[in-house]
Amino acid sequence: MADITNNNCGLCGGNETLGHVISGCNIAMQQGKYTWRHDSVLKAIATILSPIVRPTEVFCDCDPLLFKSPSIISGNKYRPDLIIKLPESKLLILELTVGYETNLKVNFDRKQEKYLTLIEELNKAYDVKYVNLSMGSIGTFYKESSNIKRELIEAGLAENVYNHLIYY
Ligand SMILES: [Zn+2]
Repeated sequence: MADITNNNCGLCGGNETLGHVISGCNIAMQQGKYTWRHDSVLKAIATILSPIVRPTEVFCDCDPLLFKSPSIISGNKYRPDLIIKLPESKLLILELTVGYETNLKVNFDRKQEKYLTLIEELNKAYDVKYVNLSMGSIGTFYKESSNIKRELIEAGLAENVYNHLIYY
């Protein structure tokens, strides 16, 4: 049971701030808690999009029993979280980050730079739409990521996708 007489983290003994609990605890990270949170959100998104966008191919780095790996399209060097092949050689790439609310921009910028080369490469064969989804762990979206509705529609997905995402 947690000791409420001090503000030490129950896992690592560090200073238990909100930021520490949400994204800064090394023990929580080693236990895979942050990965689990990220993959749970990712799997929800992939599961919502899959039936809506048929006939398509959905590649998601979240559950190998349900989805093929995005590396089939991207290779292993840079493997984004989710790739959806759409008609007319369109390709939707979605990269998800779930972190502390004050890191929304940092995480967005990092993922923007990380996938630049891959997107340039894939653009030679596909019409690529890149959705850089930077979320906070209590559900806020970075302002650039809040264009996800328009980006999904531009990628060729139906307008009701967004409602499914919001109300899941
Ligand atoms: Zn800790």
